[in-house]
Amino acid sequence: MPEKNNPKNGFSRRHFLKTATLIGCSALASNLSCSPKVIEKNMTGDHPESLKGRFEPMPSPWFKETARDNLQCTLCPKACELEDGDRGVCKVRENKKGEGFTLAYGNPALVQEDPIERKPFYHVHPASRVLSICTVGCNLQCKFCEVWDIALVSPEDVHVFDLPPEAAIDHARSSHVKAISYAFAEPVVFYEYMSDIATLAKNAGLLNLIHTAGYIQPEPLRLLCGKVDAANVDLKSFDQDFYNTVVGGELEPVLNTIKTLHRAGVHLEITNLIIPTLNDDMDKIREMCTWLVDELGPDVPLHFSRFYPLYQLSALPRTPVSTLDQARSIAMEAGLNYVYIAKVIGHEGENTLCPACGETLIKRLGFVVEDNRIEDGRCGFCQAPIPGLWA
Ligand code: SF4
Repeated sequence: MPEKNNPKNGFSRRHFLKTATLIGCSALASNLSCSPKVIEKNMTGDHPESLKGRFEPMPSPWFKETARDNLQCTLCPKACELEDGDRGVCKVRENKKGEGFTLAYGNPALVQEDPIERKPFYHVHPASRVLSICTVGCNLQCKFCEVWDIALVSPEDVHVFDLPPEAAIDHARSSHVKAISYAFAEPVVFYEYMSDIATLAKNAGLLNLIHTAGYIQPEPLRLLCGKVDAANVDLKSFDQDFYNTVVGGELEPVLNTIKTLHRAGVHLEITNLIIPTLNDDMDKIREMCTWLVDELGPDVPLHFSRFYPLYQLSALPRTPVSTLDQARSIAMEAGLNYVYIAKVIGHEGENTLCPACGETLIKRLGFVVEDNRIEDGRCGFCQAPIPGLWA
């Protein structure tokens, strides 16, 4: 195991903080996620070879013994049953001689600063900056994964940062960010790490934001609700077949997660990535929007996101803008007040409009907020209340 923060290995804590900030800026400038490859590229000269695959197994409470003397993980609906030496589907949880461990603690593969609009949150402190953190691993296997080189690999396969929860808070404070965002890869699989950071972050006056696929069991979700201020849940489709064949999971647990977060009072936004031929059936989109209105009310922000060909779906075209427009019209007809279009820069669907008077309240260009007319949580024109966590 490498020595932590040892200047001899060229990776002191000071070096980390400086490098992480530079990486965040570099990644933002090029609009890239800060993948391990980007980290490597930015560390020429004193590359921390010893941090490749660093992990210290941390005992996890989210395991129970089975009748066959194995361990079953109770964190997500996959419910992996593990023999001694086995790892779960997510590649970061392991049975070691009858004790359950997480291998995703204090070793993020990505640490960078982002605009909050990138997380994506459009109704939480617009134009503020957040610190994004994620480890490797995922409990789903989406064929369209945008971060497959982090999410679908093992901890041994990537270079990582040495970032205990306290150091994450120090970094967030020194960077003057508003929040910590657990995002890019799936935060459920680094639950213990996220949970410990979130406790410290709350005490430090920072917000905790998650962007998740919502594939988690009810009990860990219940505990998480007490720590998280806002969640953006990927509702990847309203079709169980799509979840089976393209995502590798079940729809029902995701719907339950959304309902639980809403009932717990966590600020909630929903993202739906529309992929040509796979989940662009407008009847299903209408069904999904009606469900959102019935379960969450008309004020939950919904982001329709544009698909770009990549990973196992590189043969598909990107989503036509007309498809996104059609979905947006259907969502508004169903009664949703805040329906956005993501990844089409300059589209009118990037803006927030007041549902009462129709004025433009927040004007965006990509991740940049050009104008904000929300005042004390109300429309600056007609004073109608606008849901969200505002400054
Ligand atoms: S979190 Fe990982 S190990 Fe646990 S049930 Fe889900 S996929 Fe399996």
